[in-house]
Amino acid sequence: MIPIPESKHPRIIIIGGGFAGVKLVKKLKNLPVQIVLFDRNNYHTFQPLLYQVATAGLEPDSIADPLRKQLEPVKNFFFRMAEVYSVDGASNMIHTEIGVLDYDYLVIATGSRTNFFGNESIMQHAFALKQIPQALDLRSHILQNFEAATITEDPLEKKSRMNIVIVGGGPTGVEVAGALGELKRSILPKDYPELDFSKMSIILLEGSSSLLGGMSDFASEKALKYLKKFHVDVYLDTLVKSYDGHSALLSNGEEINTHTVVWAAGVKGNYPDGLKESSLERDRIVVDHYNRVAEYDNIFAIGDIAMMKSEGYENGHPMLAPVAIQQGNHMAMNLKRLLKGEELKPFKYFDKGSMATVGRNKAVVDLPGKSSLGGFPAWVIWMFVHLISIIGFRNKLIVFLNWVWNYFTYDKGTRLIIRKFIPKKLRKTEPELT
Ligand SMILES: Cc1cc2nc3c(=O)[nH]c(=O)nc-3n(C[C@H](O)[C@H](O)[C@H](O)COP(=O)(O)OP(=O)(O)OC[C@H]3O[C@@H](n4cnc5c(N)ncnc54)[C@H](O)[C@@H]3O)c2cc1C
Repeated sequence: MIPIPESKHPRIIIIGGGFAGVKLVKKLKNLPVQIVLFDRNNYHTFQPLLYQVATAGLEPDSIADPLRKQLEPVKNFFFRMAEVYSVDGASNMIHTEIGVLDYDYLVIATGSRTNFFGNESIMQHAFALKQIPQALDLRSHILQNFEAATITEDPLEKKSRMNIVIVGGGPTGVEVAGALGELKRSILPKDYPELDFSKMSIILLEGSSSLLGGMSDFASEKALKYLKKFHVDVYLDTLVKSYDGHSALLSNGEEINTHTVVWAAGVKGNYPDGLKESSLERDRIVVDHYNRVAEYDNIFAIGDIAMMKSEGYENGHPMLAPVAIQQGNHMAMNLKRLLKGEELKPFKYFDKGSMATVGRNKAVVDLPGKSSLGGFPAWVIWMFVHLISIIGFRNKLIVFLNWVWNYFTYDKGTRLIIRKFIPKKLRKTEPELT
């Protein structure tokens, strides 16, 4: 049994210190409960800015915040850094890498993981962007390739080292492509004057006929236009079939020589083992309108992992931070009601709109209703919304200062290879990050 002091209050275990889990813990602050939070990391990750770490725009520390520090003011709170392996609903226990623990109520907030749709070759060789170590690996790998490109005499090898393919034209793919376009245009040529950057291709592949699916036509057309300005080649209706680390084979038969493929083409739910089959659907945990997991009385799921079918969201809510935050909030209110013996209230998502940035001065924003914005005003809104959403005052300040610095100097200061990236096949041990 994991050592946690006995308490006269009911124990609520929360798995996952992401947007949903952190919000829930904060909101449970004054309740007569014992809260135990588990996360495999000792920090919260602000995933929307992972791409800026990968493209040398921000330090990793500025998008992470220690969970213990963040949740310090919460009384009756315990944090344990551990991977949770499984849930045993019959005996109200969770099994983790550091032992087992029993609960009165369990809330699963484990988010999502990269979905490679079963493509082994891509899983082996492409870069996912879900965790900070992955963003750092990608940053090192890109910079290592430029170092290697300066050495090789072979023009094909040189080009292949410089080329970058991004798969998936959703917000993450568009943001990565835009940031790389900026690097190519304003920064890398100064660092590597001996390389011919007209030979470098940044290619964004999207399987459907438009970018930013789920956003307005205005947003997808603008994003396409902006990416062209950053010299990103966008291939619509095109999939990658396989990738061996050097050459990507596309569905149109074309082969692209590249040492870097970034996979931004999808995520799927990431849940611990042990739940009944009937509680799962499309890799997410099925919940009712109160976030209660199907087939269980005292297990709940919130955030990306929860599949709540409701009007307008027949396949569940979009996997977005605002949904996770709102569900964390709502879950706290319902747990309060549950403890008082009151009726639970159904969750209703308040859609505040969606947005994506495409590099310097360029972004698209779909506001609630039908109106959309593009260009500089949208970029300012994008920056403001992200700044206020980052957890921790110190992080807000550091990110703000970095952005101001980058804007006025046309520079990105973190072009550092702190830890050399070693491809999976050459590693002695393989920590699996998905
Ligand atoms: C690259 C990228 C860009 C994004 N951009 C945007 C954006 O611009 N706007 C937006 O709204 N959304 C964006 N999202 C989506 C957004 O980040 C998610 O919707 C949000 O993080 C979901 O919150 P969550 O609390 O459900 O899960 P998460 O924030 O993913 O948190 C899950 C937590 O659970 C922990 N965990 C998982 N499994 C276990 C386990 N078995 N044991 C212990 N701990 C575990 C993880 O370490 C993590 O801390 C982006 C996501 C990515 C990957």
